[in-house]
Amino acid sequence: MLFKGIPASHGIAIGPAFLLKVEQLRHARISLESSAETEQEIVRYRNAISGVRHDLENIADSMGDVVEGRQILEFLLLLLQDPTIKKEVESRILSEMVNAEYAVSATLRGVMEKFNVMADPYIRERVADVRDVGRRVIEKLTGTEKEALKNLDQPVILVAKDLDPSETAGLKPGQVLAIVTDMGGRTSHTTILARGLGIPAVVGLQRIAPEINPRDILIVDGIHGHVIVNPTSEELRYYRDIREKFQEAENLLQQMNPGPALTEDGVRFELAANIELPHEVELVRKLGADGVGLFRTEFLRLIQENGENEEDHFQIYNRVASEMMPKPVIIRTYDMGGDKFRTGLDSVREANPFLGYRAIRIGLDRPVEFSIQLRAILRASVHGNIRLMFPMVTHVEQLRRLRDLLGMVRNDLTAGGIQFDDKMQVGIMVETPAAVIALDLMLPYVDFVSIGTNDLTQYTLAVDRGNPQVADLYDPFHPAVLRQIDTVVRLCHSQRKWVGICGSMAGDPLAVPLLIGFGVDEFSVAPSLIPDVKKMIAVVTTHAAREMAEKSLSIETGLRVRALVHSYVVGKYPEILLDENDWKTGG
Ligand code: PEP
Ligand code: MG
Repeated sequence: MLFKGIPASHGIAIGPAFLLKVEQLRHARISLESSAETEQEIVRYRNAISGVRHDLENIADSMGDVVEGRQILEFLLLLLQDPTIKKEVESRILSEMVNAEYAVSATLRGVMEKFNVMADPYIRERVADVRDVGRRVIEKLTGTEKEALKNLDQPVILVAKDLDPSETAGLKPGQVLAIVTDMGGRTSHTTILARGLGIPAVVGLQRIAPEINPRDILIVDGIHGHVIVNPTSEELRYYRDIREKFQEAENLLQQMNPGPALTEDGVRFELAANIELPHEVELVRKLGADGVGLFRTEFLRLIQENGENEEDHFQIYNRVASEMMPKPVIIRTYDMGGDKFRTGLDSVREANPFLGYRAIRIGLDRPVEFSIQLRAILRASVHGNIRLMFPMVTHVEQLRRLRDLLGMVRNDLTAGGIQFDDKMQVGIMVETPAAVIALDLMLPYVDFVSIGTNDLTQYTLAVDRGNPQVADLYDPFHPAVLRQIDTVVRLCHSQRKWVGICGSMAGDPLAVPLLIGFGVDEFSVAPSLIPDVKKMIAVVTTHAAREMAEKSLSIETGLRVRALVHSYVVGKYPEILLDENDWKTGG
């Protein structure tokens, strides 16, 4: 039986299933009689928090230099000690006169519900973190800490509806061969941790957990997101062979790739990271990225407790830029609306939000508010190598108005005696066919361009990027998208402007050779994809890449373009090998 999910952590594993039951965050409500009892509950709650803090700190210490693991545990510690949550739990105990376990479960379920309705997948995936913390506190209160994972006596493949991040952090790679979950996405903490620990993982399988029995034999293909339950002997032989090749390739590539991103013939490409939250910068530095190619700032709305304010923006940009110094950090101004969350927008409901009130359209409509962000970026620019980027530009007039607004903010700062980098580069994202076709008219106003293939694909093919019903039509390898990338690079280079790519396509191993061939100057990808993209760059020669890119422009379908690249890299990058059947059957 084959299940398809999201490939979350590369690698192949074969072994027996171990089913892990994750309890719901619920607890019986017990009514208390007196204020002495409620006081007692508050003491128990506070002791439980200290106990859990101690446990999490111990796990963090045991993570050694798995930086992403320690960062995630730090996030859990923050959640655990969050003053708003603490206050709510304690006031529930006092006002509702209930037991601490119930107050914790009710409060945290409320937080989970709030996270769950956020449009942004990153925030939704933090639900697992909240449940993790809640479960630990309740277990501490009731004295029933889960032992299951610690008692494993043979290497297993862990199967769960969902896996809490701190449980994942406590796993030993030799003991857990792979992780398979129904929930989760590419950005959930469990996924990031699995990658950090080098444990193959497939997540987002939706309905695999109820289908698997203890000790079923599983093949987990963390490269393509496949899980085979009780495979045939032929499948086993095939995957054992692949697993061996994969291991050999991993060792070889790891040895050969500690430094900058170089092609096989020694040409260097900038390999930067996309980040959403400031703390990601530590990981980005550790990975040796050449900079932050896209700092999505929408999330700052969530952490600004006192509403939109310049100081919060400034502190964050300053921190990220100084930590990355001297490497560049591209800060993208707010890209609210569309599929992104709309906190604080109080805009009317739109029939077509992707075509509506979003990104710089909002900024230009509310210049006073927008200037707060621009001021903060400019102020931070003296403390690091900051570049500013505007998303969703479709009209040259918008660009003129944006430059005017920026000019006004600069004048204000100068008048106030506040320093900024007056040579700060200003660029735009190219995310719509309009921006591609009219790019020659826009380029005189910008220093650089970054291609946002997520939106460019959606607007070119008229396919909602988040709608699973039309997901099969969403293809960045479509000739209409590839031809636009080629056009953009040529135009930029003809006017001596550099061009990067920061859509997810930049992190797709099969796209990397093509993008090298088209001549993009910079790749910006999710931090966890940096090693893979670097490996892919290393197995390509610029000559072959150019040939492939040129050929791709006259190929009819995206699938055939992938097959073209696949046939080139298949001997050099064995992980790709598994997709061979797809190329044979596809049109
Ligand atoms: C893009 O559209 O490709 C992009 C990088 O921006 P976002 O995914 O944030 O819309
Ligand atoms: Mg976009």
